[in-house]
Amino acid sequence: MKVLVATSETQGERPTDYHWATEGELVWVQEPCRRDRLRMPNACGCGWGFAGLASHRATTTAKVIDIPELDLVGYESAIAKSLADGGWPPSAARGIAQVQTEFAAEWEVNTVIERDLWLFTARRGRAVDEEYVVSVDEYLDAAFPRPIGALLEDDNERQP
Ligand SMILES: [Zn+2]
Repeated sequence: MKVLVATSETQGERPTDYHWATEGELVWVQEPCRRDRLRMPNACGCGWGFAGLASHRATTTAKVIDIPELDLVGYESAIAKSLADGGWPPSAARGIAQVQTEFAAEWEVNTVIERDLWLFTARRGRAVDEEYVVSVDEYLDAAFPRPIGALLEDDNERQP
């Protein structure tokens, strides 16, 4: 199964790069905070980041790898543990695991991905389908509880 892991490869190609996650740990795509979504001057930079499941620290570079022995059940339990560690309801793990798995499957192995909010770009490697563009609505619907998705919509409406 393809998953995203933290990588230091290609770090430094963007001035906004950071790599606080543990090299090689599983990472996932989190909804950016409001300041990042609105690109406010005091944004924390999470809108460029992938969150480490174990370290709870982030990196701006995620690599797609294939772990044949990992299945959706094992991946879901890793996410559930991370959520519980962070004080979040582990019940969200199933939806997150499914969306993350679908997302990772869209990229060729060894592709290094960067993000800018909901735009994901291959810094090295490529998407399986060159036309692939992640759908924000689909992502939020599947991965996050309703109230958070609703907040994002509110923010978008306030943007000029
Ligand atoms: Zn942020």
